[in-house]
Amino acid sequence: MEQRRQDAAARLEEWKIDALLVSSPANVRYLSGYSGSNGVILLAANEAHFFTDPRYGLEASQNITCKVHVAKGPLIKAAAAILQSKRWKKIGFESASLRVEEYNALKDAVSLGFSLHPLGRVIEQQRMVKSADEIDRIRKSVLANSEAYSRTLKRIKPGAKENDIAAELEFQMRMLGAEKPAFETIVAAGARSALPHAHPTGHRLQENELLLIDMGASLDGYASDMTRVCYTGAPPKRVRDLYRAVLEAQLAALNAVRAGVTAGKVDAAARDVLKQHKLDRAFLHSTGHGLGLEIHEPPRIARKDKTRLRTGMVITIEPGAYIDGLGGVRIEDTILVTESGCEVLTPTPKEFVSI
Ligand code: ZN
Ligand code: ZN
Repeated sequence: MEQRRQDAAARLEEWKIDALLVSSPANVRYLSGYSGSNGVILLAANEAHFFTDPRYGLEASQNITCKVHVAKGPLIKAAAAILQSKRWKKIGFESASLRVEEYNALKDAVSLGFSLHPLGRVIEQQRMVKSADEIDRIRKSVLANSEAYSRTLKRIKPGAKENDIAAELEFQMRMLGAEKPAFETIVAAGARSALPHAHPTGHRLQENELLLIDMGASLDGYASDMTRVCYTGAPPKRVRDLYRAVLEAQLAALNAVRAGVTAGKVDAAARDVLKQHKLDRAFLHSTGHGLGLEIHEPPRIARKDKTRLRTGMVITIEPGAYIDGLGGVRIEDTILVTESGCEVLTPTPKEFVSI
């Protein structure tokens, strides 16, 4: 954590600030190890202050290597008091996560000769390339997620409700060590699978329909993300063709991944294949996203995105095609970018399974 803070502090000058107030919970966790619900960090060139409330005081003072301040009132006020005692002039804050009331409290406190500077997702940029320890945690999260899927798949039969399947997936995840799902589990059957972000409902799975499951575990703080699609019965040719096209697009995108390639080029690899199958208009989202402490992190694997992939990034590859009335197919793996290509971390097979 100390190294991470030093790396961030080394960029204060580039960001044209003297200190950075970190309020995004995932960034606070990344820079301090604190995983509770109420903590902020004030990061300057040679010092880091961590603020929390008395519920977390003991835990923080034992585990966190920043200077720990336990505040009875709002953390921003406690941070502002430190700001006033220092000679820092330009204070950066995370415009994507600081609440308006916190911003106002900060503004009131710093009216005496300080200036506030909104910053974009600068710590998230630092988080894009994962350390060996983070990769290890993501691997464990991915394995638990895939195992929860395969245990659940064995039990799914027509007649089961989408809601019950989602509950079983999440139960299995937790039995395998996850603290929670990384996002709301998607279970969508039949024509509803054409909605890329369908919430599970009381719909009962029928014979001869698509079943799309998009799930992720949060284990030891780290997310995994996988989508698989199966069919109840023997899929008709139209559905088999749809599946094959999406799989071909997914494999093409995986093939395009390696350090140095732009995210846009990987997206284009998937999109080109779907275009050949006249499915480009049925592909309603981007090809993937980074993940780690959060389920969606930079980079985005999106059309024309110029971010260059780097060794150690962990991203998803998840093209899909959605056809109104028929249903949707999306195939998603969590992968690690390497020098020469990628390592697919998700072990779950990608054959089109009939249940
Ligand atoms: Zn997903
Ligand atoms: Zn995803």
